[in-house]
Amino acid sequence: MSIEIDHVNKHFRDFVAVDNVSLTFREGELTALLGPSGSGKTTLLRIIAGLEQPDTGRIRFHGEDTTDLHVSQRGVGFVFQHYALFKHMTVFQNVAYGLTVRPRRVRPGKAEIKRKVMELLELVQLDWTAHRYPHQLSGGQRQRIALARALAVEPKVLLLDEPFGALDAKVRAELRRWLRRLHDEIHVTSVFVTHDQEEALEVSDRVVVMNKGRVEQDGSPEEVYDHPANPFVYQFLGNVNLFHARVHDGVARIGDVALPAPEYEGYRNEQGQAYVRPHEIEVFADAQHQDALHAKVELVSVVGPTVRLELRTDNSEALVHAELPKYRYRALGLQQGGDAWIRPIHSRV
Ligand code: ADP
Ligand code: MG
Repeated sequence: MSIEIDHVNKHFRDFVAVDNVSLTFREGELTALLGPSGSGKTTLLRIIAGLEQPDTGRIRFHGEDTTDLHVSQRGVGFVFQHYALFKHMTVFQNVAYGLTVRPRRVRPGKAEIKRKVMELLELVQLDWTAHRYPHQLSGGQRQRIALARALAVEPKVLLLDEPFGALDAKVRAELRRWLRRLHDEIHVTSVFVTHDQEEALEVSDRVVVMNKGRVEQDGSPEEVYDHPANPFVYQFLGNVNLFHARVHDGVARIGDVALPAPEYEGYRNEQGQAYVRPHEIEVFADAQHQDALHAKVELVSVVGPTVRLELRTDNSEALVHAELPKYRYRALGLQQGGDAWIRPIHSRV
């Protein structure tokens, strides 16, 4: 089931929450809707679900216009950040709920419901919790049950709004890998809302970056990370350094460092800004490379296996952020307050 968003607009009084959005979520894919808080992600998700009506524009599921269909007729499953499981029901009863409330003529028999629920509990690897109550589960387990419950009614589309947002970092990281594997098994068209870049890049087949109600970019995780469409995407997808660059015929110069800038082939003496990620900066302990820029190491932070450096080049106001493996940092023998030489190895102007 593909989902097509066709020129959708939504405002709340004079505030534009969704600004003329057109995009397609492809059949069987897990797409992340990524953007800062307030960028319109939840509003767009609610419009897809039918919980909110757009002011203008259409929603189509597999070519069929669903804009005027009630939420219950769209065949969507949801998981929200604070998905309240029914507290007074066991895990089994929670997952079975959507099936048991169906009108009698379409309700599966008792044995069929049991088979279905146990199958789903196995899918989320929590079959042993069937007779427990939600308060006897951890937060991560509850969200997995919420997902099993959403899947019980065999939705055509699965909508997840920051489903792991309330969990701690380690559990989140585990759950997103788990979700990735689960999706590889069930292939239901899914939209996953998150404001966490890492989560979006790791979990999804495709990333849609939103900002101020608009779509800034729509592409594979590699595309949006390595070939961001504009400075907003570049900065939102991870830490980035901005350097002043002179661009001349396919070469960008940052100080004396010359880097290929193929998109500027034919341009002469342009001034521009080069975007360089922290791991795209080489760091040296001496002036072994003539073109490297001299800098002072202002701050060293060790984050597990990685060392993050804040450096100040001789003629710059802004700090340069560099990142390197700890073994490399140790081999260099750099020190906070000491000298270093840096050289960008890749940039985008
Ligand atoms: P996100 O999920 O990306 O954080 P939302 O879609 O929740 O963003 O909200 C986008 C903007 O629309 C926010 O500034 C929010 O305050 C506003 N908004 C959302 N829902 C309503 C509403 N029901 N009434 C008024 N303003 C709303
Ligand atoms: Mg939201």
